[in-house]
Amino acid sequence: MSTKYVYLFSEGSGKMRELLGGKGANLAEMTNLGMPVPQGFIITTEACTRYYTDKETISQDILDEVFGYLTQLELSTGKKFGDIDNPLLVSVRSGSRASMPGMMDTILNLGLNDTVVEGFAKLTNNPRFAYDSYRRFIQMFSDVVMDLPKHNFEVIIDEMKEKKGIKLDTEFTAEDLKEMVMHFKEYYRSAKQEEFPSDPKIQLVESVKAVFRSWNNPRAIYYRRMNDIPYSWGTAVNIQSMVFGNMGDDSGTGVAFTRNPSTGEKKLYGEFLMNAQGEDVVAGIRTPQTIDELKSVMPHAYDQFVDICDRLEEHYRDMQDMEFTIEKGKLYMLQTRNGKRTAAAALKVAVDLVKEGMITKENAILQVDPKQLDALLHPQFDTKKLQEAKPVGSALPASPGAASGRIVFTAADAVVWKERGEKIILVRLETSPEDIEGMHVSQGILTARGGMTSHAAVVARGMGTCCVSGCGDIKFTSAKTFTLGVVDFKEGDALSLDGSTGNIYAGAIPTVPASITGDFSTLMGWADEFRTLKVRTNADTPKDARQAVEFGAEGIGLVRTEHMFFEVDRIKAMREMIVSKTEEQRRKALLKLLPMQRSDFEGIYEAMEYRPVTIRYLDPPLHEFLPTDEEDIVNLALEMNLDLAELKNIISNLHEFNPMMGHRGCRLAVSYPEIAEMQTQAVIEAAINTIRKHPEWKIVPEIMIPLVGEVKELKYVKDIVVRVADKLIADSGLDMHYMVGTMIEIPRAALLADEIATEAEFFSFGTNDLTQMTFGFSRDDAGAFLSHYYDKKIYEQDPFARLDQNGVGKLVTMACKLGKQTRPNIKLGICGEHGGDPSSIEFCHKAGLSYVSCSPFRVPIARLAAAHAAIKEKNAK
Ligand code: ADP
Ligand code: MG
Ligand code: MG
Repeated sequence: MSTKYVYLFSEGSGKMRELLGGKGANLAEMTNLGMPVPQGFIITTEACTRYYTDKETISQDILDEVFGYLTQLELSTGKKFGDIDNPLLVSVRSGSRASMPGMMDTILNLGLNDTVVEGFAKLTNNPRFAYDSYRRFIQMFSDVVMDLPKHNFEVIIDEMKEKKGIKLDTEFTAEDLKEMVMHFKEYYRSAKQEEFPSDPKIQLVESVKAVFRSWNNPRAIYYRRMNDIPYSWGTAVNIQSMVFGNMGDDSGTGVAFTRNPSTGEKKLYGEFLMNAQGEDVVAGIRTPQTIDELKSVMPHAYDQFVDICDRLEEHYRDMQDMEFTIEKGKLYMLQTRNGKRTAAAALKVAVDLVKEGMITKENAILQVDPKQLDALLHPQFDTKKLQEAKPVGSALPASPGAASGRIVFTAADAVVWKERGEKIILVRLETSPEDIEGMHVSQGILTARGGMTSHAAVVARGMGTCCVSGCGDIKFTSAKTFTLGVVDFKEGDALSLDGSTGNIYAGAIPTVPASITGDFSTLMGWADEFRTLKVRTNADTPKDARQAVEFGAEGIGLVRTEHMFFEVDRIKAMREMIVSKTEEQRRKALLKLLPMQRSDFEGIYEAMEYRPVTIRYLDPPLHEFLPTDEEDIVNLALEMNLDLAELKNIISNLHEFNPMMGHRGCRLAVSYPEIAEMQTQAVIEAAINTIRKHPEWKIVPEIMIPLVGEVKELKYVKDIVVRVADKLIADSGLDMHYMVGTMIEIPRAALLADEIATEAEFFSFGTNDLTQMTFGFSRDDAGAFLSHYYDKKIYEQDPFARLDQNGVGKLVTMACKLGKQTRPNIKLGICGEHGGDPSSIEFCHKAGLSYVSCSPFRVPIARLAAAHAAIKEKNAK
């Protein structure tokens, strides 16, 4: 049987997201629930995939199917496409599996041309409306399908307004709009060197192609990369008969959420505009009314809408985000989906739904995206400082959070400033999909126009970025200056936004760390009930360690000992050690480092109490510790009583062409065993001292040897550790144990993990280096050329951010298996950056690791992601 590429709404269902896209599947589901949905059909995501394999053409068999369904739609609506007496007009809407709001553009009123519009005017007895619809269609079609910027049409409209001496769109007469259509088409002709397509069938086919093409536009690509959506999914196209919210004062259009998407409060939340179409509500051109006001404007439609909202929430068991249109008093549903929400709202909704008996704890956990928690883990404004500050203005609290930064005015500038390491606040009249990257790199977004459901608000909430929108008091005095209250602002000035109150402050307000309370702590508690993977942290200082414990860390998976050597008082001793020419000199320098290192470890043991701590021995190439500036080199020579030329010689001898593959990791201990001796003494003595103070903690030091590729190399270093440690323990008289393990970060170690496990009591996958060595990509340079790989779809993701499950993952799985063969109870963990990435965590769960280790701020994210992995595994069984 040949593939079916088109489905009527009534043939689909909510379960068919993959094939029909989210929008189409939900339109089908609402149709099946008997809700008032304008009828239509869906061209599947598979048709989009085929469009690309067929070299960006739509094959004839698919076109035939589309037109077959168009005929069915004509039959069921009683209207005819391109007909003068009773024309069928449709919208063409994109919709992929995951909702990508604002990423792809909708075309409304398709099917109009110079003759159809006449008939449409007669039929509706409303020529003004008919021509308004027609000019909108020309604008949208030209913009979305033909790449003629919307703005150029706005210019024509403005010129006409000036000529006619009017201010508002609504003041145009039917004749004016007819003239506007003429100007639009003239402009189209001169810009495109051809006539505006008048055949509705051509309009339809070109629009479908445009939706398929938009799957591959830069904003879509950027959004996908940000949200982990694979290119291969494709988008579906929805063809739906039009209903009109712009038919007069008994018509309107709106959007609403079943709960507040900012706070999660259970109360219908939304906006609508009378006598308006499509995106008018979110475009921020006119200020919309709140959904509550619909009650008095149109009580009947309101009641029906409230009833539908309740049913939809009950049906989907999640907060819904809906679009509706009222045509001459009659309500139509145009969309529903699980609403995007802030992290705080996500937690409240999930916890409330459990309390209401609507969902299980498991479902509540799955409802919250781990990555979203990030927004709650970052600093909030210091309440005292905030109270002292006086706002210069305020507007809608569109997306919560505390943001301070320097003002920039364009998305492109935001990207440039960000690259310079600045924190920025993006200030715009309003935002549009082109701004998405600039919005993403900003701390906060401030717009002069637009409501709570404007583009800026919706996108910012989705990203977890603070946003204050619709600040009408902002007066732009030039492209890069504005006045607010009595203050003049320019590019680079500091500004603070409170996304929870909508207040705007001049200057930077200090922030304080976040904490886990209320719904957040309830949900994290549930996550802990379900997850099996442990979560540790990467921490080098007692302060980081305490923060991580606060966030729920169950141990430390990685203490990087070298980080402690960069502090001013220590780097001297470190440098002395490095430039030593004899073992004796080196031992003298190491003796200075010993007490510092020991007290660092004591601090960490104190902070972690009974929890396990893995300490990694010195790892980076030594030259990293040496000065590079002439002045610093001269000072070092003086301090160390060395000849300048001699010191320079030592430094240049330490230079390596590929330091990342050079004299580092356990190779240092092989060359200079006394380094490992000192580090062992520091670890064991710190543990002994801590155990003496707190015998109940039962500390078992975990000593981790980095960059091992060969078991003999590991054994050589381990023998040093064992010799030093056993003596110290024997002398202490304590009954104390310790473990020696290794990092698996060189492909050879993964390949020979069975041999390595004869010596190693645990493995910790250092997936940063393992990725670097497996791909042969330098971590520090790959960024520069990886973008070409993304463009060409060779790689879709940065392998340093998201674990490459196919390649690097295969090494991990293999090493786990080989390691367990030799040592069935071997402890397995991961301490690369990937340990805090939700999709990588899911992989670690499946691979059978015992823990992941990540930076303190990612610990809650990892706890939730680990719970997701466990629940998904259970559900799959
Ligand atoms: P997005 O995914 O950007 O929200 P949509 O496809 O939902 O885009 O459409 C944009 C706007 O057009 C929405 O406000 C919707 O209400 C309106 N719209 C879409 N289809 C129709 C239709 N058949 N009749 C009337 N309005 C429509
Ligand atoms: Mg849109
Ligand atoms: Mg929509």
